[in-house]
Amino acid sequence: MKAAIFEKPGLENLKIKHDVEQPKITDHDVLIRVKMTGVNPIDHITISGTREVKPIPHIPGAETAGEIDKIGKHVISLKDGDRVIVYNRVFDGTCDMCLNQCEMLCRNGGKEIGVVTNGGFAEYISIPERNAFKIPDEMNWDLTASLPVSTLTPYHALKEAALNVNESLLVFGASGNTGMMAVQFGKKMGAKVIAVSKDEWVKEFGADYVISDYDKVAEKVNEFTQGRMADVVLISLGLNTWDSSFDSVGANGRWVAFGGLTGADVELNVQSLYSKQIKLIGSHSGTRKQIKELIEMYKELKIRVWKKFKLDEAKEALQALFAKERDGRIMLEI
Ligand SMILES: [Zn+2]
Repeated sequence: MKAAIFEKPGLENLKIKHDVEQPKITDHDVLIRVKMTGVNPIDHITISGTREVKPIPHIPGAETAGEIDKIGKHVISLKDGDRVIVYNRVFDGTCDMCLNQCEMLCRNGGKEIGVVTNGGFAEYISIPERNAFKIPDEMNWDLTASLPVSTLTPYHALKEAALNVNESLLVFGASGNTGMMAVQFGKKMGAKVIAVSKDEWVKEFGADYVISDYDKVAEKVNEFTQGRMADVVLISLGLNTWDSSFDSVGANGRWVAFGGLTGADVELNVQSLYSKQIKLIGSHSGTRKQIKELIEMYKELKIRVWKKFKLDEAKEALQALFAKERDGRIMLEI
């Protein structure tokens, strides 16, 4: 089969090969003919060599959707031709975390398909049956291949933050992959959504206010909330925005992070934390139950795609992630 594959870390080492062996399936696996894979920072990290990656040579791609091509002997929930989404967490289904609906924190897994297994930058991928979720015929591939990472992550984070009706939600990077979904969920959950973004189109996704100046976030939030500040602040940008994001949290507010793109080490004044009873919440991926919920609400969700690349252009697709003019998602069409 054809795949984008690398043997040594570094984007320059990502090669398109036509003679990669098609993945094998066990009795409990399914083989998927990949249709679309969403391109995310995690794929870039996978190739950069800063995380443990296996197997080597490695096929990246952590957000994949396609059609069932073959099923293992004991697979009962799926059949050939079914359109599916890949829940990308490796989990055993038997530990206390898994039993407690926290598969993404599985004590015997807890990492991503596409990072510790081969991913979706290929014509085929094999995964366990329990990771494959059937989707409706009408659900388009762009949205489908945006569910496992870009959509599930902010959805789970807002659930962890217990965002409530009429609260104010501040979303940093609101026109990014996870940001545009967070804005939609914030609106659906009944919150007032304040988006930090240079793009006015986030209003079409449900933002009530847009802050385009990253240097004036707390000041603007103060203005929009009449001094109350935000009840929930959602951020995955890390160090560079730590001060402005923390300063934007109001009394009894929740600061939620699922990433730290610009650096992870920050300074915290503990007094400012307890005096306002602020909760710092870490959120990681999401659950299978939530993937089901997202599939059920697919008609109400939208995604903005900036560019689609072919598998042959995998390298360009990854480079485009950091393009200044980027204006929406990047997808890899297989
Ligand atoms: Zn487990």
